[in-house]
Amino acid sequence: MTTNTNPLAPPSALLAELTYRCPLSCPYCSNPLQMGGRDTEMSTEEWKAIFDQAAALGVLHVHMSGGEPAARRDLLELVAHCAGLELYTNLITSGVGLTRASMAALAAAGLDHVQLSIQDSTAEGADWIGGYEGGFAKKLEVAGWVAEEGLPLTINAVIHRANVAHAADMVDFAVRLGARRIEIAHTQYYGWALHNRAHLMPTREQSEKAYAEVEERRARYRGQIVIDHVAPDYHAKYPKACMSGWGRLSMNVTPQGKILPCHAAETIPGLEFWNAREIPLADIWANSPGFNAYRGDDWMQEPCRSCERKTEDFGGCRCQAMALLGDASACDPICVKSPRHGLIAEIAARDSAEKVEGFTPRRIERIREKSDA
Ligand code: SF4
Ligand code: SF4
Repeated sequence: MTTNTNPLAPPSALLAELTYRCPLSCPYCSNPLQMGGRDTEMSTEEWKAIFDQAAALGVLHVHMSGGEPAARRDLLELVAHCAGLELYTNLITSGVGLTRASMAALAAAGLDHVQLSIQDSTAEGADWIGGYEGGFAKKLEVAGWVAEEGLPLTINAVIHRANVAHAADMVDFAVRLGARRIEIAHTQYYGWALHNRAHLMPTREQSEKAYAEVEERRARYRGQIVIDHVAPDYHAKYPKACMSGWGRLSMNVTPQGKILPCHAAETIPGLEFWNAREIPLADIWANSPGFNAYRGDDWMQEPCRSCERKTEDFGGCRCQAMALLGDASACDPICVKSPRHGLIAEIAARDSAEKVEGFTPRRIERIREKSDA
């Protein structure tokens, strides 16, 4: 018997990765290591056709992300198109590339929400981590423009070894910026973060201290700001309910039109993902082999298969099971019930002992040269 929720229920959200281009080079970026450049990206008309199909399919929220979505010259046109379809539009941005005029135009075009990333609570730390001088000052400016336009603002901060001591300061900072929500997300190790894990992993003590300090802020700022707190995976007891279940609620669109259940799904070898340049979105949602691979629970192994928590966390993350165990259908080893759970403590202890300075900044060009070689 399976606990499959209706696999043909429509997705409620679509993450549109408009481009992998970004002026920043965060070492924890979730973008893939092999990234296509501008010449491979979908055109304005191709994106609009996807948004049309998404609205018809039942999608309610479109998250415009990247890379840096403001690197697309047609961002305003795409936002206006989504607003015309009555889709709720959320711009996930580093702020770099936006101007006072473009923010006003986006708001006038119907943008509903802005999610602004910060790399640290200090200019020095933030500019170093993001690899972009003046980035922090720019974010302060952008936050002010968002407020002037009357748009709701969420601050997003990824926590790792280089800024873990400032996690609670970042909540204070978001309050001062007038944000309604902050997402404090301890690094999830995919993409560049997995590549740089040995330089990003905090010690257990550092993670637990930061976690407790942020939770203390939750009580302090009740009614002022909502805190979404993503726990540090490698120091958790149970895994996260990754994507709220594979292929259950949302889909990711890559800049090249591939439709994925999550941004890391292509790291699982052997899965077939379809492209919206060739196949209608509704068909992909219902029939793409990659989407159907881990829907329901028929694919599960023990201990997940007979576990009472399987409808809560869906056995954890398939990409993490693949990355750490080489088996995407295994129980996510973050889980204490996993027979391989001991590996997590080993990795965390080993990686948190490395120097933080040696990480590789994310770069499209560097990877291109490497892949062309
Ligand atoms: S994580 Fe950093 S490098 Fe990656 S898209 Fe966001 S701002 Fe750009
Ligand atoms: S055994 Fe599987 S389903 Fe149960 S808690 Fe662990 S990861 Fe979740």
